[in-house]
Amino acid sequence: MSAGPLALVALIAAAIVAGAGEGGSSLRHLYLLPALWAALAHGAFGGALVGLLAGFLQAPSIFSMIERLGLSRPVVDGLVSLTIPLAMGLTVGRLVDQSRARGAQLRALLEIQRSLAGETTFGARLAQVASLTRRALGVDRVGLHLDAGDGAPLTASAPDGSGAPDSELSGSATPCRRLTLPLDAGQGPMGTLVIERSGDLGVSTRGAAQALALHVALAIENARLTESQRRSAQELEDRVTRATQRLREIDQAKSEFLSVVSHELRTPLTALQGFSELLLDRDVPPARARRYLRHVQTESQRLGRIVADLLDLSRIESGRGLSLRREPFDLRELVECNVEVFACQHALHRFDLSVAEPLPPLCADRDAVDRMVKNLLSNAVKYSPRGGRVLVQARPAADRPGLVELAVEDDGIGIPAEALPRIFEPYVRLAHPETATAPGLGLGLSLVRALAHAHGGLVEVESLPGKGSRFRVLLPA
Ligand code: ADP
Repeated sequence: MSAGPLALVALIAAAIVAGAGEGGSSLRHLYLLPALWAALAHGAFGGALVGLLAGFLQAPSIFSMIERLGLSRPVVDGLVSLTIPLAMGLTVGRLVDQSRARGAQLRALLEIQRSLAGETTFGARLAQVASLTRRALGVDRVGLHLDAGDGAPLTASAPDGSGAPDSELSGSATPCRRLTLPLDAGQGPMGTLVIERSGDLGVSTRGAAQALALHVALAIENARLTESQRRSAQELEDRVTRATQRLREIDQAKSEFLSVVSHELRTPLTALQGFSELLLDRDVPPARARRYLRHVQTESQRLGRIVADLLDLSRIESGRGLSLRREPFDLRELVECNVEVFACQHALHRFDLSVAEPLPPLCADRDAVDRMVKNLLSNAVKYSPRGGRVLVQARPAADRPGLVELAVEDDGIGIPAEALPRIFEPYVRLAHPETATAPGLGLGLSLVRALAHAHGGLVEVESLPGKGSRFRVLLPA
């Protein structure tokens, strides 16, 4: 304890002795000052000590007054003033102690909140909270156990900070008092706070522990909310980044698509322009004129197919779906006709046709089925070498009762297994030297699939790189 209050006590005692030597001196009231000083500076212990000392110093004169005057009024006054410094020192000292403890708790809470808002792992932060709580309560051990919320259950303890479960807290040899408190921020218990101290825990420690448990629960709840907000913000940021990336890719794909479309349209248009100019401006012999006209017909058909594909694509992308005009028709005739035309146009390929007898009648959009056949045949030719064989089959699907199978098989470049799911997506063209030189928009297969689905059917593919591919359209009979 500091010497100030004691010196003041000595000074007052000396003044009283020098002044009157009487216990009834009004100077004795001044003993309140050092008692107050000590209580403010050192709490209940200091206040009580100085109060007691003041009482002792007054006692001899009070006793001699009792002997001389009996229990008279000045004696009663003297007795009261003897006890007042002690009572006041004790009371004020206690209040000072309590407010100091409260201040320490508030500082600890602030630190707890600060440490929970830190950047380390939640487990590390919890260990820090356990150690701060231990310090704030002045106990030997503190354990914090959090039930599984949106993550795994967490346990942290101090002083070891090893994360030992609370049941291991009282492993020491000295008998301990233990208090287990629920951590509840108002939405049901989220875990427990366990404190241990060898010897008694005391009412004030228990009260402080209860208050701290509530504040720790609130701070943990806050930290969890902040954590989940941080996670959501991160997820949102990731999503925005992915969406931006996707938009960039789509943007790039669209620009590439536009340049491919213009190129694809320009090729037949140039041919049409060239042949029609030749036929108009020159005197072409009839046989050659027929050949030119066949080119004109082929190129205008190609142009028609591109325009039809683009129209269908725009219908699919705008969500309008494909409109079908279903009618019964002869699939054999349609397939035979297409194979004949392709065989004529691609004389270097060998075409084989196999149509089952009898073939179940189809009730479908004839034009749509025609475009599916043409797309598959055109791919078989584009992606197989000259001299390659193209096999076309139409028959009831052996493995799918009720469906008619239309298969186009080639012995061309084939498709790697990992690319198979992608080839039915619009704009997809695989990286292959043959693909790079072959004309195409990457739309054919996506339309074949869309048309098959629109009929309630499906498309399948089997392929081996370097060996060839077999596409199968299955339509309800
Ligand atoms: P396009 O032929 O206009 O590029 P498709 O949608 O018809 O577009 O085909 C998509 C891609 O699938 C082609 O670019 C090609 O890489 C691959 N592909 C399609 N058919 C075959 C086939 N028969 N053999 C090998 N690859 C094929």
